[in-house]
Amino acid sequence: MLPRLPEWQTRAACKGRVDVDFIEPKSPAEDAECRALCAGCRVREQCLAAALATGEAWGLWGGLDAEERLRLAERDGHELPAVLPAHGTNPRYAKHRCRCDLCRKAHTDYERARRAHRRVRVEPWSPIVLAEPVRIGRVWAGAGQLLLPLPGVPRPREAEPGELLASAA
Ligand code: SF4
Ligand SMILES: [Zn+2]
Repeated sequence: MLPRLPEWQTRAACKGRVDVDFIEPKSPAEDAECRALCAGCRVREQCLAAALATGEAWGLWGGLDAEERLRLAERDGHELPAVLPAHGTNPRYAKHRCRCDLCRKAHTDYERARRAHRRVRVEPWSPIVLAEPVRIGRVWAGAGQLLLPLPGVPRPREAEPGELLASAA
């Protein structure tokens, strides 16, 4: 059996409106349409109160989105939306569209780290084909042998394609 809705929800203007997404409106027009419905809703106050009371962190409730409810909650001492990421984190910037200084900086740092990570990944750590014998400690690695490049160690000369075949012929 489905759980029963609170009585006020049976009178909600958004009831049955599956054509608009109150959780994550897909466009400014859809967001405006949701807010217009809320503006004319008979149970707007109950709706907002319920969201504030439970720290609801998603969607439009009582005509206010999560950020607006957070500001209201902070101002009036309500429980803060529980799962909203903190300011100064990239999810707060990217997913919740906070543009405060802390979140902007977190996003910049995140993007910088992501680009650096990608740069490291695209440089393939492929082995070097030795063009000529190289001494490694006490032993020699012969021409044609594969060697893994080591960070901070000068790369030995690498054989050009076909070079070793030509010298062997
Ligand atoms: S205020 Fe908005 S979200 Fe809340 S019940 Fe009314 S129409 Fe639905
Ligand atoms: Zn922020």
